Amino acid sequence: MNKNSSNIMALAPNTSNKRETVCIFGTGDFGRALGHKMIQSGYPVVFGSRSTKTSSLIPKGAEVLSHAEAAQKAAVIITAIQRQHYSFLTPLTEILHGKVLVDVSNNLKINEHPESNAEYLAQLVPGAKVVKAFNTVSAWALQSGTLDASRQVFVCGDDMEAKQTVMNIVRALGLTPLDQGSLLAAQEIENYPLQLFPMWKFPILLSFGLAAFFFFYCLIRNVIYPYVYENKDFSFFIAISIPNRICPILALILLALVYLPGVLAAIIQLYRGTKYHRFPDWLDKWMLCRKQLGLVALAFASLHVLYTLVIPIRYFVRWRMSNRIISQVLNNKTEPLDTTNAWLSDSYVALGILGFFLFVLLGITSLPSVSNNVNWREFRFVQSKLGYLTLILCTAHTLVYGGKRFLSPSSYRWYLPNAYMLSLIIPCMVLVVKFVLIFPCLDKPLTRIRQGWERNPQYSE
Ligand code: NAP
Repeated sequence: MNKNSSNIMALAPNTSNKRETVCIFGTGDFGRALGHKMIQSGYPVVFGSRSTKTSSLIPKGAEVLSHAEAAQKAAVIITAIQRQHYSFLTPLTEILHGKVLVDVSNNLKINEHPESNAEYLAQLVPGAKVVKAFNTVSAWALQSGTLDASRQVFVCGDDMEAKQTVMNIVRALGLTPLDQGSLLAAQEIENYPLQLFPMWKFPILLSFGLAAFFFFYCLIRNVIYPYVYENKDFSFFIAISIPNRICPILALILLALVYLPGVLAAIIQLYRGTKYHRFPDWLDKWMLCRKQLGLVALAFASLHVLYTLVIPIRYFVRWRMSNRIISQVLNNKTEPLDTTNAWLSDSYVALGILGFFLFVLLGITSLPSVSNNVNWREFRFVQSKLGYLTLILCTAHTLVYGGKRFLSPSSYRWYLPNAYMLSLIIPCMVLVVKFVLIFPCLDKPLTRIRQGWERNPQYSE
């Protein structure tokens, strides 16, 4: 056989792939943008409109007819119209019978109506096969071609064949259809574009709350206290010193909060002797936003690194260093090298560097492009084992920073301990409980529970 025959076949017009006409109701922003994209993808498009006059805004090559005429020309009808106008479809019920009716509409508020717009449409036009799709794609993205962030199109519907037809159209437009099941999923799909970083709300609010608390705490200890007792003005600490105290504290606490729900879940499962009871809602929600908590923690750790790098060029630090040197010269006395302090300082820095390195590694592996390329065991190894190692290193970094100061009375101002001491409470608790859970007397039953064993089975054979 001729070697080039396949190429010749590919170049020949493929008549069997001719696209079916698609009807779009509504010549508004979304209808026009979708029509434009469909024509580009080879679909003949006919618009159903209240006015059959064409204008320069209508995509070239598209026809504009009355709703009834347009619907008769296609098996798939897309309703690019706001929900409040759907009543105009009632007289078209007969024409729309057996046709695929695609609902693209969105609402202004989450759960605005008792039923989803798609279910409402299905009630209005009972004979049509209603499919929900395209509502997460914006008219602007369709027209400008910048679909990177919104390439996914959620599709749901009760008729499998109708859903498949719509998914084929989605694919032909260069988008990715995601089957979300029956029309019951429509409400969730309609709420989706209205959500504002749902998983980030808790981590961000928590870090704002903690940041405000530690800011005032450090302000009292490091600015107000010296002003009251020594009449020294350290208000400039607000610019770098206090943020550089708050950032590592928040990074450590938030990292510990990533692992705390796992530990609590283990305790609950051990106590109940089963994994088949639901966790309390707050714990479920907490577990769902662990990735976001970890990423916020990484952001604070990175800020801490940046603040630390500028320490040598700070005026206050240079002034203090030169003062110490001058006083040694004036007293004709050099300070001997304190090996213990040198060890403490180097260990503190080394632990910080290693902790930050693993922290970054954790952040990188949580990116979808990376996590999609590792299997479940590899992902768990990185997020759990390396995660705990990061927590150990960062906690050790803070403990060594405290060094000999933990028990020194001068560390307590107005009976308030240093802020970093407070930051150690949750990480130490998590690490101690995790350590206890590793003991075989607890680890074995926990592993069995997670494999499905129950202490008091609900359904005995
Ligand atoms: P739009 O610009 O307001 O257009 C809606 C169209 O509906 C109008 O141009 C009109 O078309 C038709 N219409 C208005 N009143 C009507 C009535 N009483 N009876 C029958 N038809 C009527 O709205 P849009 O931005 O294109 O949005 C259309 C739908 O797509 C909405 O449900 C929206 O939630 C959804 N959506 C929009 C976007 C977006 O980025 N804009 C993204 C996702 C989903 P004719 O003049 O041709 O009749």
